[in-house]
Amino acid sequence: VTADVIVVGAGPAGIATAATAAECGADVILVDAAARPGGQIWRGRSAEPLAARWLERLRASGATFLAHTTIVDSPAHLTLIGETNGTPVALHARRAIVLASGTRELFLPFPGWTLPGVVGVGGAQALLKGGWHVNGQRVVVAGSGPLLLPVAAALADAGADVVRVIEQASTRRVLGFAASLWRSPSRLAAAARYRGRFRRAPYQAGSWVARAEGADRLREVALAGAHAEVVPCDILCTGYGLVPSVELAQLLGCVTTLRGVTVDDDQQTSVSGIYGAGEAVAIGGAEAALAQGAIAGCAAAGSRERAEPYRAARARHAAFSARLRLAFALRAELSRLAADDTIVCRCEDVTFGAIRGCASLREARLHARLGMGACQGRVCSPAARHVRGWAGDSVRPPVAPARIATMIHEAATDAATDMMHAPAMDEPHAED
Ligand SMILES: Cc1cc2nc3c(=O)[nH]c(=O)nc-3n(C[C@H](O)[C@H](O)[C@H](O)COP(=O)(O)OP(=O)(O)OC[C@H]3O[C@@H](n4cnc5c(N)ncnc54)[C@H](O)[C@@H]3O)c2cc1C
Repeated sequence: VTADVIVVGAGPAGIATAATAAECGADVILVDAAARPGGQIWRGRSAEPLAARWLERLRASGATFLAHTTIVDSPAHLTLIGETNGTPVALHARRAIVLASGTRELFLPFPGWTLPGVVGVGGAQALLKGGWHVNGQRVVVAGSGPLLLPVAAALADAGADVVRVIEQASTRRVLGFAASLWRSPSRLAAAARYRGRFRRAPYQAGSWVARAEGADRLREVALAGAHAEVVPCDILCTGYGLVPSVELAQLLGCVTTLRGVTVDDDQQTSVSGIYGAGEAVAIGGAEAALAQGAIAGCAAAGSRERAEPYRAARARHAAFSARLRLAFALRAELSRLAADDTIVCRCEDVTFGAIRGCASLREARLHARLGMGACQGRVCSPAARHVRGWAGDSVRPPVAPARIATMIHEAATDAATDMMHAPAMDEPHAED
């Protein structure tokens, strides 16, 4: 499949990229592993006016959406290999590829975090959308960042008894952040609306879950910090913010940092023709992702001048991102919670004790099998990196689980391409 611009990821960033690039006259393909565009925040519910507006703009732009398609490799510049419903697909961009691959949650290991009843905050959200029955269940929501609020609100709406919302950042930092929200009235209003929906539950800053206890499932959590106490509960929803999904960018040779893919003023990465947008570049919410996506879309289509209206919004959101990062920076105590027998990699049952002597992620993978299981390190690598202070790791294809048939197809396509371009060694030469 060939198009002028290929966009990977159909969250707010990818939607804005694809729509604006197509409006600038480019032939655009937008791919996502999911069935529908929308990403983490809008997928499956487009009733929000902002979502409805952008989804309609995407539809009207004429960009093609390729659903159920996961990109797993890039064998050559501006070429991607993916799987559509398990069938291999090769995509080639004439002008540009835009990476809008978003983020995933950061989990930090603590004793008991693998007990049944302990779930990620994003996982809880997904379960609730799927009809998770939590009526009357006592729930503690704990971790860090603004994401705790919509999750607590959704749990309360579903009939759960939200008993505590626990934020690791100090009260001073949280209040400072809240005070700065006068600059973002829509965010302030959203936060107030969420808080109203779980108003009976105390929101306690400066605390964290040190231990989850229970025999065969969660019974209680032990809190540490400003509100040290033991809280009986049936469910613990936990998450320590988001980490950018940069594996594909790394595979394409783009410079990345722990904050995300490095881009220039046009959202172009360090590799010519490869752009980045949204939370894979900087964590700052859906509106920031939209502004970045619109700029990337115009630039990728060769019409950077049409990006002007979006630049001021991007700068405003970048300032919000910086405040967010500062306010919810993770405290050092969280890196010291895991005991020697605490599981860090749950796919391969690797304990914290098993990686204690390792000096890098690579060593932990080679010596203890950390990250070698089904999730390929998506959960445990950021956790281990955070807890041990390790630098990032190199990536290898496939960047997402793929069928052997896809990798064989790719190898066969590569070999056929090589043969077409190589001199025909077996054919007799004219002088023979
Ligand atoms: C678990 C979770 C829950 C969240 N809940 C909320 C919330 O309740 N409220 C809120 O305001 N914000 C929430 N956020 C943050 C919000 O999702 C972001 O602000 C916003 O969606 C960022 O948009 P994006 O386009 O950058 O990325 P995303 O919306 O994350 O979109 C990225 C897309 O890329 C696709 N993708 C990634 N890699 C590949 C690949 N290799 N091949 C194909 N497709 C790929 C993914 O399927 C995804 O659809 C949540 C984030 C997460 C991770």
